[in-house]
Formats: sequence, C-alpha cells, structure tokens
Amino acid sequence: MSTTEATNALSFADLGLSDSLLKTLTDIGYETPSPIQAECIPVLLQGRDLIGQAQTGTGKTAAFALPLMEQIDVKLTKPQALVLTPTRELAIQVAEALQSYAKNLPGFHVLPIYGGQSYTIQLKQLSRGAHIIVGTPGRVMDHIERKTLNLDHLKTMVLDEADEMLRMGFIDDVEWILERTPAQHQTALFSATMPEQIRRVAQKYLVDPREIKIKSATATVAAIRQVYWQVSGMHKLDALTRILEVEDNFDAAIIFVRTKNATVELADKLSARGYAAAALNGDLNQQMRERVIEQLKSGALDIVVATDVAARGIDVPRVSHVVNYDIPYDTEAYVHRIGRTGRAGRTGNAILFVAPREVSMLRSIERATRQPIAPLTLPSRADVTNKRVTDFKAGVVEVLNAEGLDFFANIVAQIAEEQNVGAEEIAAALAMMCQKGKPLQIPGEDPVARPLPAADTRRPGSFGERDRKPRSEDRGDSRPRFDDRTASKPRFEGGGESRPRSEDKPRRAMAPSSDMITYRIDVGRDHGVQVKDIVGAIANEAGIESRFIGRIGLYDESSTVELPAGMPAEAANALKRTRVRGVPINMRPDEGRPDDGGDRKSDGERKFKKKPASY
Ligand code: ADP
Ligand code: MG
Repeated sequence: MSTTEATNALSFADLGLSDSLLKTLTDIGYETPSPIQAECIPVLLQGRDLIGQAQTGTGKTAAFALPLMEQIDVKLTKPQALVLTPTRELAIQVAEALQSYAKNLPGFHVLPIYGGQSYTIQLKQLSRGAHIIVGTPGRVMDHIERKTLNLDHLKTMVLDEADEMLRMGFIDDVEWILERTPAQHQTALFSATMPEQIRRVAQKYLVDPREIKIKSATATVAAIRQVYWQVSGMHKLDALTRILEVEDNFDAAIIFVRTKNATVELADKLSARGYAAAALNGDLNQQMRERVIEQLKSGALDIVVATDVAARGIDVPRVSHVVNYDIPYDTEAYVHRIGRTGRAGRTGNAILFVAPREVSMLRSIERATRQPIAPLTLPSRADVTNKRVTDFKAGVVEVLNAEGLDFFANIVAQIAEEQNVGAEEIAAALAMMCQKGKPLQIPGEDPVARPLPAADTRRPGSFGERDRKPRSEDRGDSRPRFDDRTASKPRFEGGGESRPRSEDKPRRAMAPSSDMITYRIDVGRDHGVQVKDIVGAIANEAGIESRFIGRIGLYDESSTVELPAGMPAEAANALKRTRVRGVPINMRPDEGRPDDGGDRKSDGERKFKKKPASY
C-alpha cells in the first residue's frame, strides 16, 4: 500500500495522555484523535480554560472527558468535575462515555443527575460519593440549593452543548451554577455555534480561555456520484446490504467506520451475509495490510471495512464504491475517503450514512465541497427482487449461449416424459433449486422512510433535533442501548428506571386533547419566560417527552400547560418543585380562574398560536 498521501495526524500518545488511558483507548478501538480532540486535549491537560467550537459528531465528549479522567483523584470521593448538559439523554450519554474511559481506573464513579429521576435514588448515589457529576442545569441547581451537591472540591466545570442550553432556556440556571462554583477551577465550554449570549457567559466566567474552532476547509472533490441515506427505520447494516445489492456497476467497496472494533464487527457481519469482506485497521501490521489490499485488487475480496488511518492512500482502481458508514469528523476526512473511488479514470460512487443528529455535518460537507449530495431512496424489497431476477435471467441467458447443453437437455426430456410435465414447469423447478441460500424474493416489509429535516429546521426548543437512534445503529459502537422504541403512549419516566427517550416527532403530534389536563404554573411573560423554557423544564424534570406536552398559554404572570392525564405522583411532585428561569412554577390543575382576564385575548394566546410550529 502506498503511504504517499499526507499522514500528519497526531496520535493520542502525542497529546500527553497517560499510558493507562492510552490503553483504554486502544481497547475501545479509537485509533486517532479527531481534530477537536487533538487541539483541546493538550490545552485542557495544562489546566487552561477553553472554548471549543465544533459541530455535532466531531468527538467533543472525549475532547473534555479524557483530560477530566487524568485529573481525577479516585481516593477522594467528592465531586471533582461537573459537566452540565442540556438534556437528560445527553447527561446519560456523557456519563456512559466517561465510564467507558474509566475502564482502567478502578473505583471511579460518574453520576448522571437529571430531572424526572427520583430524588431518593439520587441522594443515595450522591451520598455514596461520585468523582464526576453530569447533570442537567435544573436538577443540579436543585441539589446545590438543598446542599446535597457539594462543589468545594471541584477542579473542572464543563458546559457541554452550551448553545443548546441557551436554546432550551437554561442559560440563567447555568449562570446561577457558575456563580456558586469555587473561585479556583478550570472551565471548558463546548458549543456547536457561538451565539452572543454564550460569548457573554464565556467572557464573564472563563479566565483567559483558549479558543479552538474547528471549521471545515473548502476542498474540491473529483467527479464522483455522491449520495446520502438518512438513517431511519432500518439498521445500517440491512440498509447497506440492500443498497449494495442494487447499486449499478458495483465492483468493490471500501466502507469507512470510526473504530477498529467496528471494522472487525462489520466485516464479520458482511462475511456472514456472503460478502467477501475483511477489516483493515491500525492493528494490522504492514504486511497484513498489504495482503488485504492485494486481495482487494485481485478480487479475492470485494469489501474492505476500514478506519480513516488504515485506508489512507489506498489506490485500487476497481473500488467502485466508498461507503461512509459512520460519518467522518470533517470535510477533509470526507474528501480523503471518497478519493478512494473514481480512480484511474473510472466512475466512482460515494454513499454517506447520515443520522438525524449529523445533518449539520452533511450540510457543511456540501458547503465545503460546493457540491450537493443527493438523497438516496432506500431500495424497496421489490427493487431488490427485480435486480435479483434480472441478474438471474442474465445468468440463465449466458448459460443458454454456452456449448454442451445437450446432456442436460436430454435429462430434461426424460423428466418431462417420466413425470408427464412440460419443459416450463421443469425449468421453474430448476430455477427454484438454483436460489440456494439466496432467494430471489426477500421476505418482510419495507420500513416507512422518515423525511430528513431541512437544513434550517433547528429552531428554539425543537426537541426533534435531539433525536438519537439506538446507538448501535448510528454511532457504530457497541455500548449498551437505552432507547425504548416500543412505547407509543405518553410516557412518564420516574424512579431509578428512567431511560432517555428518543424524540422523533414534532410536538404537534401529541395525544388528543381530551386526554389532556390543563395545568397552571406561576411563571409568565413578566418573568421573561418563553414557551421553549416551559417545554424544556417540563421535559427534563418530569420526563415527559416534549411531543406529549400540549398547548401552552403564556400570560403575564402565569401560564397554562396541557399535559396528558394520568401523570404519576413522582412526575407531579417533580413538577411542583420545578423552576423555570429560577422561579418555582408551583404546577397545579388549572381552575380556569380568570385572573389573567383580558390577557387571555391579548397577545398571550395569539402569540403562541401564531408560531406553534416552532415548538
Ligand atoms: P459530539 O459531542 O461532538 O457531538 P461525540 O463526542 O458524541 O460527538 O462523538 C461522536 C461519536 O464518535 C461517538 O460515538 C464517539 O464514541 C465517537 N468517537 C469520538 N472520538 C473518537 C475517536 N477518536 N475515534 C473513534 N471514534 C470516536
Ligand atoms: Mg456532544
């Protein structure tokens, strides 16, 4: 394999991480740091404050989590780091990531705390002692106020997805918490965008921060057909095999994933489905790598599943397809990847899998390469059947044209006579025998495709953006999955069994309002509250999916909220204690008291009615 193409990537070892953590990363299968990791880790290890700006999916969690792990004194069972995230779902995800990086740090505890989870459990866990707390702002505030969360030993504070916390109306809570952290500590702020208010918070609370911004450089790509598939309704593996099967001119493919482990897993699964596939990753020595490439060249292999580093510089002309099974970290990586096809003057095809949360990366690749990437409609079962039938017919015709059919024609004639059947029936029987392990018709039903949100649908409080598929599907990793996609009724989460829920429908698709109860809360426009603040607080504190939160009426001093009937006591209690913008909301069933009188017809309702689609 040629290694002439740029290999300027830093390794994790270059960043100053300890041997034990390096070993963990090897175990997890991370080969190289992503750009934001390469830049942030050394700065954070120095103890400096930092503002990190990079898109979703670029690896920001490990960018702060790895340096955090290095600072933790396991013997001291006091919170030494606090990570604030906008949602409970993210809190759990970040906590999970931290736990996985602590593989070689026995006794390490990370505790996610978020609304909707029972206080009793949280208090017990807090009193047992945790080294890192990951929480949503509302619940963290609450514990600080109750003095059940002590920040005296805090060394680092991380604001993850700061822009999202702003959008969800948590910025005042975040400031409230920042004001109560010890004077001496490191602060890291991560955000995909840098709105003015976030910048103001950074100026106020961060000390001489290093600013790191990963932006996509403009690049040109060769004339390659580029398409993307929005991951939905079907596992990536099933989608992949379906797509590859009907792709015209498929010869050989390189499939890119993020981790070494994923290369092996996917290659195994493809082999099990009958593809000649192998993994190519940094664990293979030079000789083994060359062997894989040779096999791809010679046709002994048709698919190589690779990480970015391992596939760098591969030049195999018969590679007709590059599949970005896991989306790359940046445009540069994308351009490198798809450059593996369309070589030696042949046509190349690049297929990109995009999870809902990665849409912004897709758009930024399009911007940087100045080329649109067209959506790919997943082939239906009928498409696959048609393709198989066409190929089958072509195969039969090929044999028909071959010499030496007489012997077989004779056998067919014998069967016809002995069984008293026509040649057509015999041919059908033979065709059926020919299907072997691979039937021409595939059973089952086609999933319903979900439309991809347009580039600009990210609106304040739009919980749909938070949608995450089960991780094994969109992240290419094998950590435990928490999503429960079976629930279709309004669901309240409470107690220790709380699980993050994926949100995939807009809030308007809520339960019929006959099952809804209207509640009154003591915050309104006079408190500077907006609809999104109320939605955010209720979703986080009571564990009610935002789409099940009904109409919200904003008045001057109070507001009304429609919630599904049958709320469990746990959720109701949580809501009694919930604050919005620091004000206790004191939620209770609305008696329809006309205290807001004329206000009802004022712009309160109207304002909401005009823009319900935003929420
Ligand atoms: P962000 O916070 O920027 O949205 P995440 O931290 O959630 O991104 O990372 C996205 C995915 O990339 C996760 O599945 C994570 O495990 C994976 N990942 C992060 N860093 C690396 C790396 N260096 N090598 C391989 N996979 C990585
Ligand atoms: Mg993140």
